[in-house]
Amino acid sequence: MNPQHQIDPRASCHISGPPKEKFPLHQTKIASSNSMYERRAESKTIKLAFLLILSLAPGCTSNHSIDSTATDSKSTGVSKGIEVSVQTYWQNTEIYLQPGAQVKLSAVGLWTLEAEKTFYGPEGSNAAYENCHYGELVAQVGLHYYGKTICIGEGTTFTAETVGLLYLSSWAPWDADRALGAGSVMVQIEAAGVDAPTLVPADLATINLKNLAADELEISGQHVIVTVSKAQLIKFQADAAESIEVFDNFYQSHLELSGHAPYTGQPIRYFPDADTRELGAWAWMLAGNPIRLDPMAAYGEGFDRSNLLQSQNQANSVWGFVHEMGHDFTFTNGGRYLIGRGPTEAWANIFTLYTLENSGHPEADKDDRCRDLDEYFQNGEYQTFKNDTWLPLCMLFELKELYGWQFFKNFFRHYNSLGQDNLPLKYDIDENRWAWLLSEFNLLTGDDHSELFKKYHIPLPLNSP
Ligand SMILES: [Zn+2]
Repeated sequence: MNPQHQIDPRASCHISGPPKEKFPLHQTKIASSNSMYERRAESKTIKLAFLLILSLAPGCTSNHSIDSTATDSKSTGVSKGIEVSVQTYWQNTEIYLQPGAQVKLSAVGLWTLEAEKTFYGPEGSNAAYENCHYGELVAQVGLHYYGKTICIGEGTTFTAETVGLLYLSSWAPWDADRALGAGSVMVQIEAAGVDAPTLVPADLATINLKNLAADELEISGQHVIVTVSKAQLIKFQADAAESIEVFDNFYQSHLELSGHAPYTGQPIRYFPDADTRELGAWAWMLAGNPIRLDPMAAYGEGFDRSNLLQSQNQANSVWGFVHEMGHDFTFTNGGRYLIGRGPTEAWANIFTLYTLENSGHPEADKDDRCRDLDEYFQNGEYQTFKNDTWLPLCMLFELKELYGWQFFKNFFRHYNSLGQDNLPLKYDIDENRWAWLLSEFNLLTGDDHSELFKKYHIPLPLNSP
């Protein structure tokens, strides 16, 4: 195989340090980009995107629940009341803190993460979870991967250790738990910070950003939130609104293909986070909610010329941004059709290519991705397929050529509607999982695809036809 299509063997994955590695993680590292990007990368370093579906996957704000009428941001700091829904991943309080800033929080109300709807207060359930309690109200300054989570319960006072926006959330290991939850709590905040109002794209035409007190803020589109420094926003103000619109359209394409919005339909946040560099030597982007980005990937000084706020310019790469969103859409219902790291990337790239094609982006061009197939068909082994980003994509694309995108629209809708009893086991042997997928493909199309599976050296149980 062409080496540029391989996982970089130098890329070792070392997730270390408390607290998040304690939870079951799905984690793969892959070549994050299309062939254009990789050709550029060949002479330098092959950057790797880094998929890590975090059990914690912190996420989205609901701007509409913020009561900004109670805000007072004079020299005394900010005082405001905010309603936090148990389903919101991470809610931006729109308060920007510097290290050393004192924050006092108190909360009342009832919520639950239990399917049986046993309600409890902001102190959470009786079950300890990390340093806090399952279902407890928690805070974080910034959404950095290694950021410190502060247990709030019914109230606490803490001193900010890092700079950033103050976010609140319910504390749960699985995003699915939040989807089952109900209720909200009212949080009163007194903070020695400054206002950091969330902007909508329309604000960007007229706002004088230099008048804003905070050095960081968020722009919220319909489906996507971008966390951005004031300095970067000033630099890219002219393009930012159109760029966010482009991201909203990316999301719409994902929704069109999947028929299901992840994270209970809350927006997906893009958060520049230097911690991604700590996750592995070549970490670049990290799926989840937020989608964490190496700051260089976020704002375009890198060799791949990707820029969150200049994505309206099709000369810039958007592949990585779209690719990570694709991961977020493939983990619905446990993502049990993702068998191995190569196919995991390929399924995300089904979303990527559909989206880029929809938006007429030049990165949709896939002409040379399957150029090494003959060699693989003759001498390849399944382990190569299992770890390769492009081979599984070539296989899936054969189905797209046969049936069009409708094949995937049907598959995702069917898969997302399956009950737990009809899903293959997550840790079953590959043979059984592939056999399940083959039968699903056959069922959906009325055709037999076992020859396609065999051609790609995909293992099937011995008793398969
Ligand atoms: Zn990926």
